Parts: sequence; structure tokens; C-alpha cells
Amino acid sequence: MNWRTLIEDVCDIIYPPANTCIFCNQQGELIVPYSMCEHCWDTLPFTKPPLCDICGKPIDSDKLRICHDCAEYSRSFVKAGAVLEYMPSVHETIYRYKYKGHSELAKPLGLLMAHVVSRVAWPDMDVLVPVPLYYERLRQRGYNQSALLARYMGYELNLPVLDKALYRCRDTKAQATLGRAERRANIAGAFDVKDAKDIKGKTIMLIDDILTTGATADACAQALLVGGANAVYVFTLATGVLK
Ligand SMILES: [Zn+2]
Ligand SMILES: [Zn+2]
Repeated sequence: MNWRTLIEDVCDIIYPPANTCIFCNQQGELIVPYSMCEHCWDTLPFTKPPLCDICGKPIDSDKLRICHDCAEYSRSFVKAGAVLEYMPSVHETIYRYKYKGHSELAKPLGLLMAHVVSRVAWPDMDVLVPVPLYYERLRQRGYNQSALLARYMGYELNLPVLDKALYRCRDTKAQATLGRAERRANIAGAFDVKDAKDIKGKTIMLIDDILTTGATADACAQALLVGGANAVYVFTLATGVLK
């Protein structure tokens, strides 16, 4: 039983959330529990083939199996997947969630991620592990957006969430400001496992908000494998580069 989410569900009944779509901000009837209007449900860029066999990013051609990044670098994670392509309509919502203090978006977004990942043909997972923030950034933001998504996913999928399994052992520059090779160098070795016994032999689903080049997910997966994890899969809300 997760008391915190249960209490939030009770609060939702007593004080229903505003009937504003979390993607287009239009008022009207919403699809519960994703707080999304029917129009957005029909038109948002949900990921669809052709996708990279490894990182799950959209690729241009049916003939290719893997993307440019996965061809160039070997991955520490087995596979990655995402709910949405990272388009402007998606960016705006993630921006509000991540940088404007709208932590209440964690619930509809986390439940949407749970709904989509439950239809993906991956092996059974043992635990969810969110990508950690450096403590200084966590202090500024007040919450870890990936940990909140993981919490609602865990609640819905009935999986434990180890939000202290990984930690950032050093601060890094914001990945968004860097090119591909720089991202890998910036993030390599930035994560470590807090207590190896928590993850030993486990099949782990790593949770983040966005997968861009996959360098962050790779660095986390690397740390988890060194710590004794059996395998790491990655699931994010959005994937790709903002166009
Ligand atoms: Zn909408
Ligand atoms: Zn790829």
C-alpha cells in the first residue's frame, strides 16, 4: 500500500483537479487519469515505428534497424522506450513540469507512462530506478521529476521504486547545452550505486523524463551493471531531439 498516492487519490475526490488538459491547456472533458483531452489523445506524437531497436528513438527509414547513436556507441542498457516523441506540444508540458514547479503533473504523466509501458513486450521488471538529480539541483527544484514519475508508475504497475539506489557523485553541465560527444564525456562516471545489495541480480527499469542521445541513461545503466544489476531497460516520457 502506498499511503502517499492513496491520500492524493482521496484529495482528488474531495478537490477534483481542474478540468484543463495538461497538454493543450483547453478546458473541457478530460480522459481520466491522464488529464488529457480527447483531441490531444488523438493527435499527440505517440512513438510509432520505425524506431531504433535499441534506444527506441524514431528513425527515418524502415530499412535501418538502429539509429546513428546506437551504431556509434555500444549501449549499457538493453532497450529503451518512450511514450511520446519530443515535439513542441510535448516540450511545453515537460517544461512546466520540470522548471515551473508543476509537480502535480507527475501523476497524470506517470500514469500515462505506466499505461504505455505495460503494453511493451519486455521481460518482467523487478524494480524501478529513477535517474537522480545532483543534490544541489534537487534542492533548487524541490523535487526530482524522474522520481515522481517513477513513484506513480510503481504505484500503477505494482513495482517497488528504489529512488535512492543511484546517486550523482558529481555535478554536470546541463546536457541540453552540449553536442553528442560532449554529452557522453560530461556525464560519464557521474553516477554511482548507493548500496549494491538493493540492486544485485535485479532487472531494472530506469525512469527519466526525456531521452535525447541516451548518454545519461547509458551512464546510469553502466553504474547499475557495475553494482551487480542483471539488466537495465530504460523508459522515458519523451524521446528524441526537439525539432
Ligand atoms: Zn488537450
Ligand atoms: Zn538508437
